[in-house]
Amino acid sequence: MSVVLVVNSGSSSFKYQLVEPEDGRVLASGIVERIGEPMGAAKHKVYFGGQEGVEAVTATDATYTRELPIPDHTSGFRVMLDAFAEWGPSLAENPPIAVGHRVVHGGARFFEPTLITNLVEINIDELSVLAPLHNPGALQGVRAAKAAFPDLAHVAVFDTAFHQTLPAAAYTYAIDKDLADAHRIRRYGFHGTSHKYVSRAAADFLGRPLEELKQVVFHLGNGASVTAVDGGRSVETSMGLTPLEGLVMGTRSGDIDPAVLFHLARRARMSIDDLDDLLNKRSGVLGLAGVNDMRDLEERVAQGHEDARLAMEVYIHRLRAYAGSYIAQLGGVDVIVFTAGVGENSPIVRAGALETLGFAGVRLDPERNEARGRGIRVISADGSPVTVLVVPTNEELEIARQALEVAAAL
Ligand code: ADP
Repeated sequence: MSVVLVVNSGSSSFKYQLVEPEDGRVLASGIVERIGEPMGAAKHKVYFGGQEGVEAVTATDATYTRELPIPDHTSGFRVMLDAFAEWGPSLAENPPIAVGHRVVHGGARFFEPTLITNLVEINIDELSVLAPLHNPGALQGVRAAKAAFPDLAHVAVFDTAFHQTLPAAAYTYAIDKDLADAHRIRRYGFHGTSHKYVSRAAADFLGRPLEELKQVVFHLGNGASVTAVDGGRSVETSMGLTPLEGLVMGTRSGDIDPAVLFHLARRARMSIDDLDDLLNKRSGVLGLAGVNDMRDLEERVAQGHEDARLAMEVYIHRLRAYAGSYIAQLGGVDVIVFTAGVGENSPIVRAGALETLGFAGVRLDPERNEARGRGIRVISADGSPVTVLVVPTNEELEIARQALEVAAAL
């Protein structure tokens, strides 16, 4: 069976997974972090019973850690290769047939998984203008991985690609057209790999053709976005030029009147960098309640903290507004899906988001919603015209599958 190495690289760390794309089995995963700092760290985990969507932690799974200086990504990949050699599984016995790279921004140019040629590298580099925090780190990972695996196909899987089907009406901002064109300002959307994976998994689970389903998919993690998926195509999504727009997130504000920024610049004398930091890192749930983790927020709500209660209400209010809007854009909905850390694990958030959607045919089953489970599960009531699902996301598996497809076609 063929295996694919999946790499998700940032500027000071990268994560990796060795996956069998056909059945989703994970053989090993790891993270190399604090690259460029005086002391770096590497963690390598070997799985003996991994299954699709499940990080099976059995008595025999083993995690190994090591601390050593890791000056750059290239040395980071050597550390990873050493970890495979020392702790297994052997890459000689399980040779990857491709390396799949997560790349955040593919602009309007990349709408499918793409073999990374030198020209594609240049394009990814050039798209750093649109994603200065993400694309440079991804590119460092690509270059280091190419040095480590010079003979393999390296495939870029873009977070934006799934949303390249958005109609112009959905991706166009109502600002001066020439200026927008000159600076490529439009909505791109993110979390596309996850939205694509879970919308297909939902259709497969229900045994219904993806092409016939209208879905609203909530990806609620630290970052959060919602996508309207019509027949398997993204037709509307909440993130925009950057992953700041849309839902309330752990530390990001999501939608806000842009004039708030002019006001703060003029009245509070905040610089562009201050405002960037404010909206991306000090807003959202953190800004309102002082904690950014949903588990902490829920605990504070339960303890009766007023700030936490309001933060939860604001978070849920926004989810409802988007749900209603997307159902209207789709002209109805067959399936609503929740995924990622909050979506998969927070009955409170799911119930809140759906509470007012009875008019649209959404009937939640409270017990199913509260029940914990690992795989895909239905949480709507029997006979609910709209099916509500929890679908664990698996971006690595989706990247592995897309990379395999590209490599197999070479
Ligand atoms: P990322 O966007 O970093 O990939 P995740 O998808 O892992 O994030 O989601 C992280 C979020 O999921 C955190 O806010 C965390 O609090 C939340 N989360 C994880 N487990 C639970 C849980 N049991 N109940 C509520 N929230 C949870």
